[in-house]
Amino acid sequence: MLSSNQPDSTLAKIVFGETGISVDRCYQCGKCSAGCPAAGEMDIAPSVIMHLLQTKNSSHDSKALRSYSIWLCLACETCFTRCPMEIDLPKIMDALRQVSVRGKMVHKKAKDIVAFHKSFIEMIRHFGRMWEVGLIADYKFRTRHFWQDVMVAPTMFKKGKLALFPSLHKKPVESLFERKGSKTENLK
Ligand code: SF4
Ligand code: SF4
Repeated sequence: MLSSNQPDSTLAKIVFGETGISVDRCYQCGKCSAGCPAAGEMDIAPSVIMHLLQTKNSSHDSKALRSYSIWLCLACETCFTRCPMEIDLPKIMDALRQVSVRGKMVHKKAKDIVAFHKSFIEMIRHFGRMWEVGLIADYKFRTRHFWQDVMVAPTMFKKGKLALFPSLHKKPVESLFERKGSKTENLK
């Protein structure tokens, strides 16, 4: 059974609830997969993810939620542009990521990607905009990759890409986090 706000639903129903998109509209032409720049690295092609959802089978739902593909999606919208049915696949991928996190079904290779998402959200929550040094520190603390990419830091600092202190613009995003509270809680 899926772990979500609607535990008795199929994943297709949950996706419809979160995005308003019916996966049944997909007729499996494969144009999304053919144009996807990340498809080569994915374990399940985007059109196959759609097919898994269409079957409304719990083990297929689980396969989609445990896939690495949903975390590799770049939200580039190439698939959306190519889709003859104008299906917003990046939006579906986003919904799948949220359900995957809620259900603790994240692919093991995607742990660092989730950590990055968490660090990013924390920076916006605390400072109202990105603070790169804080993001790097938070990400490294979460992943324990303390030495990863450390050699590029001096060059970035010299080029003014790393501000030592954050600038505060918290007010504009406070109401956003309040409204979206239940969803961002999942990424804490
Ligand atoms: S939005 Fe995601 S699934 Fe669609 S083409 Fe881009 S990377 Fe692929
Ligand atoms: S391009 Fe659209 S209709 Fe074709 S397989 Fe992908 S999602 Fe389905």
